[in-house]
Amino acid sequence: MALPLADVRDLVDEYPRNPVIGAVGSHSAIDIADGAVTEGFPSLVLAQAGRDATYTRYFRTIRSPAGLRRRGCIDDVWTFSKFADIASPEVQERMRRHGVLLVPNRALSSYVPLVTIESELRVPIIGARTMLRIEERSERENYYTLLARAGIPIPRAITSPGEIDRLVIVKLPHAKRRLERGFFTAANPEEFRRKSNQLIAQGTITADDLATARIEEYVIGPVFNFNFFFTPLLPRSEGLELLGVDERRESSLDGLVRLPAAQQLELNEAARVPVYTVVGHGTLTVRESILEDVFRLGEKFVDASRDAYPPGILGAFCLQTCLDSDGRPTVFDVAARIGGGTNIHLGIGHPYGNALWRAPMSTGRRIALEVRHAIDLGRLKEILT
Ligand code: AMP
Repeated sequence: MALPLADVRDLVDEYPRNPVIGAVGSHSAIDIADGAVTEGFPSLVLAQAGRDATYTRYFRTIRSPAGLRRRGCIDDVWTFSKFADIASPEVQERMRRHGVLLVPNRALSSYVPLVTIESELRVPIIGARTMLRIEERSERENYYTLLARAGIPIPRAITSPGEIDRLVIVKLPHAKRRLERGFFTAANPEEFRRKSNQLIAQGTITADDLATARIEEYVIGPVFNFNFFFTPLLPRSEGLELLGVDERRESSLDGLVRLPAAQQLELNEAARVPVYTVVGHGTLTVRESILEDVFRLGEKFVDASRDAYPPGILGAFCLQTCLDSDGRPTVFDVAARIGGGTNIHLGIGHPYGNALWRAPMSTGRRIALEVRHAIDLGRLKEILT
């Protein structure tokens, strides 16, 4: 059973005046920690032993004799033999004792089972706890159903391989690395059969996953990941902010598009099928005349999420979007939490976030600023779930 919202929110009654901002160590943890310390909160990273050097060594806070931060932004690191241990009763108790507010990132929702986060993790989350599940494409209610309800354009779904009559992308997990993608494209049923057989034979995908894969229209156009923020602390009409826009670097896709066509055709069959593993991010802005459409998407998402998952989206979220040749956005994926590409602006701030806040405003800093505003207003519980 899901944790009652009031019970989780009441946990902060016992918290110190200045809570600790914590995140699972991977994905966007440096951005979160950098933002936390900029706004005067201690930062904590929950890391897996053996994957902790980024936090324990390279970005660890080093203080002057007077106690001022001289270098780094990760004040504390707790390491575990496996990420899922974060949710053990002892670690939860330790987090509460230290006054930890957890920022949900993809590492949290990937490494700690969603059912544990929803029903057992008695630590306040800065964001929308019950919305983390919408990212699971295999769920009956997921981000596609929410976007459709919101009236946000999504790629047309193709119900069976035999109906492929245009370029489609087939979405399923990688056979062995379950958190990675085994995506492929096809323009007709024959290409679907040929490529899927080849990918099954080389161990990239499984027949079981293929049977339940989502097949959808491939939107031809550049990808823009819109990093939004929603605050319930302001009137609804002022609550939505666009902080910045990122794009991904995916391997081997981005390597392939850097090859001239003649060289691509020289590659062997397997190497021609792009791999969509995210390995980095770049920064973008959009043509200014498109911005209002982008805000409209965000507004619709906020309203629909409030109806479907009360209290609705809180804090950072990301709509991953393709823009077609008329500049019309289609949303093909959603992060109901801090997106994966926000590190592009850590420290220097997002272009739109800076323009709005008159200061370097990264996503991490915006999250911490929200905590600061909420504490000052005596409304901390409203931004937590
Ligand atoms: P996802 O796992 O849904 O975030 O998708 C991974 C990558 O696949 C994206 O970064 C895009 O490059 C691509 N992609 C996903 N869905 C579509 C689509 N419907 N049309 C075009 N590209 C897509």
